[in-house]
Amino acid sequence: GCTAHDVITALRAGAAVVAEHRDELNQLDRAIGDADHGENMDRGFRAVVSKVDTAAPETPGALLKLTATVLISTVGGASGPLYGTAFLRAAAALGDTAELDGAAVAKALQAGMEGVVARGRAVIGDKTMVDALSPAVEAARTAAESGNGPAKVLAAAAEAAHRGVQATEPLVARKGRASYLGERSAGHIDPGARSTALLLSAFADAVR
Ligand code: ADP
Ligand code: MG
Ligand code: MG
Repeated sequence: GCTAHDVITALRAGAAVVAEHRDELNQLDRAIGDADHGENMDRGFRAVVSKVDTAAPETPGALLKLTATVLISTVGGASGPLYGTAFLRAAAALGDTAELDGAAVAKALQAGMEGVVARGRAVIGDKTMVDALSPAVEAARTAAESGNGPAKVLAAAAEAAHRGVQATEPLVARKGRASYLGERSAGHIDPGARSTALLLSAFADAVR
């Protein structure tokens, strides 16, 4: 199962992938937003890692809650409160469980997506992170129902999320800054969907 130690490894891997793709995420956001999504996410995940370095809580839920708090106070923009809410809801879904099985991971992911939707009111097809999260949640649930553990559940989620990212390209944005562009937002991948898929891939690789 996935322990607090695995969650810390996953958060570090998330920070690494965000740092590695910082410029790419900025460029995606330059096309349909204000070119700051990479720097917002990099700032946030660097802060998460330095917090975890000083005092890491001892359960997966407490770690995700700390992550939420740090992201809310450091990422900014539209994505900060949305990612913050996602991690907060995921934390709440886990309670104080010490070791997560595949079903717990799928449940946390679903709770996280519900948090994003509650906060941002986006539906599938609005060209947001929900377009990556929603198929990820479905794939995670299916994988968990077949008895898979955390690594395979996250891998299935990541794969579905990356397909969701590609699907954002032709869409016209209906939420966030990109929606100000109207039809001109079509033909570009959504940066928040991309960061969601990158994070899920990093988490999957980290817990295997
Ligand atoms: P900002 O747009 O404030 O500069 P970011 O660039 O960090 O913030 O994040 C932009 C991303 O946030 C978008 O690519 C999109 O995925 C996501 N986003 C924006 N608004 C919403 C919303 N209402 N619901 C879900 N995701 C959203
Ligand atoms: Mg932006
Ligand atoms: Mg901004």
